[in-house]
Amino acid sequence: MDYFPYKYRPGQKELVEFIDRAVRDRRCAVIEAGTGTGKTITSLCGTLGYAKEHGIKVIYLTRTKSQQKQVVRESEAIGDEIFCIAMQGRSASSCPLMRDDPELAAGNSEEISKLCSEYKKKKNGVCQCRFFTSIEETDVESWASRIRTEHPDPEDLVQMCEDAGLCPYEFTKLLLPYADVIAVPYPFVFMPMILDRFIQWTGVPLSQMILIIDEAHNLPDYLRDVQTFEYSGHAMDLVAKEAKDHGDFELHEGISVTDVVAVMKEILASAEKEYLIDDDGMLPPYFLEDELMSRLGVSSVTISRMCKAMEEIGDGIMEKKKERKKLPRSYIHSMAMFIRAWIDGDEDNYVRLVIKEGDNPMFQAYCMDASGAADPLVDCFSSIHMSGTLQPLSAYEQELGLGRVNRLCLDGIFPKENMLSVYTDKVSMKYEERDIPQNYDKLMQMVVECVNAVHVNTAVFFPSYSFMDKMVDDGLVQRLNRDVVYEERGMSQPELMNVFENFKTSDGGVLFCVTGGRISEGLDFPDKALEMVVLIGIPYPKPTAKLRAMRRYYDIRFGDGIGFTTVIPTVRKMRQAMGRLIRSETDRGVAIILDRRVSGLKGIDAGLCQDIPAAVREFFSR
Ligand code: SF4
Repeated sequence: MDYFPYKYRPGQKELVEFIDRAVRDRRCAVIEAGTGTGKTITSLCGTLGYAKEHGIKVIYLTRTKSQQKQVVRESEAIGDEIFCIAMQGRSASSCPLMRDDPELAAGNSEEISKLCSEYKKKKNGVCQCRFFTSIEETDVESWASRIRTEHPDPEDLVQMCEDAGLCPYEFTKLLLPYADVIAVPYPFVFMPMILDRFIQWTGVPLSQMILIIDEAHNLPDYLRDVQTFEYSGHAMDLVAKEAKDHGDFELHEGISVTDVVAVMKEILASAEKEYLIDDDGMLPPYFLEDELMSRLGVSSVTISRMCKAMEEIGDGIMEKKKERKKLPRSYIHSMAMFIRAWIDGDEDNYVRLVIKEGDNPMFQAYCMDASGAADPLVDCFSSIHMSGTLQPLSAYEQELGLGRVNRLCLDGIFPKENMLSVYTDKVSMKYEERDIPQNYDKLMQMVVECVNAVHVNTAVFFPSYSFMDKMVDDGLVQRLNRDVVYEERGMSQPELMNVFENFKTSDGGVLFCVTGGRISEGLDFPDKALEMVVLIGIPYPKPTAKLRAMRRYYDIRFGDGIGFTTVIPTVRKMRQAMGRLIRSETDRGVAIILDRRVSGLKGIDAGLCQDIPAAVREFFSR
């Protein structure tokens, strides 16, 4: 059955058929599809034919709420025969009883889940959460029919549930078995504990799910991060405070919790002193274990016993907090878990680091192997991986360990003449050159000339926040005759959206942001909201200890450490930033790259230009 609800644009039918074939053959489809190919609607229509025939569920994995809304909107366009539901992860804000408590806002899904169980417990035979109790009296099937026709997005669904006095999270779980398409964040599938529950709620095993991975170029990094764990100096201070508040328990022959904290702090300071170079330093694999043993004068077996004792103390603290409806968190417990994980962890796929972030140094065990968390992609019925920037596809497959793959690259469908991409060979952001006064002054001059060449909305992508700060301090803004808004470090999502909206609706505004930051991915700037991007330099990653370890690892595994860790991610970042320009067939735009090294960078399609301001004026005068 052809579910496609619109008139096919060029390439779309081919894409739907390609996905359908991959699903029918139980293969993975790895697809780079340019702007305008309609990734959401084509992936839904390519999977739904087989899925509906065989009772398989389509699980659409997204990174953001706006992507979830898009899945709901496209399912609505297909029609009422498709039941689509979007579910957000658990947080205090999704619970009507917890959302007003500021302490709980910091709670993770596991902590909120524990607190929820406490609320659901019966006291004198009565459940303490009325939003949960009322679910029992609700006709789930009639709600399912209503949702099938009303197609609420995630926020609307939460509102509908609350208006009816139902817990949005618990009630959505009951609706999942009815759904053909379920849009969920990545953790639902890639965090084992959540996946087990998700499988129970949906009522079908992973082998009966087709996974669609949106913005798939993010997946390898996401999977590495999921497996990475770290522990900071600030967290150690919180352990000391917790021990003071709850009693400083003895763990082993005169060694108390605060003694362990003191020793951990000493070890962290010594790691910084001995191994830190600039941002990070690589530690020997047994560094922490050896130091703990020698400084505390105990054996590795005793350390393990002390960790167990701290976990038990932490369990007791969490239990008490839970009973008081407080965030069930114990810093003593977290420290024990960290020490255990660090000592027991896998040596081959992890690099152990000391990292300095501001005034908060930390230990980090960074997982270099994305495929270690990619089992669901092997165990599911079929998986569809889509992005506008996924090439080289074979590298993506290797990183994730995908087998049985069908590959497709589809160009964007909008007229090529709507975009001009140029670079200059007059400046370079190479480490050794970026601060040479002649190069730096020329670079600043070129930014000014390019931005001032035409009065269109322009985004200037800096290689880092610190470089942006330096240029701003050196008077860049005063030399632009325009209003400037900024993407700033650590901005909250609402603050970022505010900046984004202000810029989008401005007339000839300038946005300062960072390549690879949140502005450069996932946000849509239609029409005149963005007509020019200026990329300062090539965003190669900093040559940190972590990067060097990754290079060695990928050299050994796939014979191309520089490609996997440096060239491929850099080109993807640049293409993402440049891709903000053309979002529809009437959009036009200019991408300017200020760095001569582009000439040797495979994958970036830009022409050398000796007079960029003139070329820009000529392009916009056409
Ligand atoms: S059942 Fe729902 S409303 Fe009740 S405590 Fe749990 S999350 Fe909150």
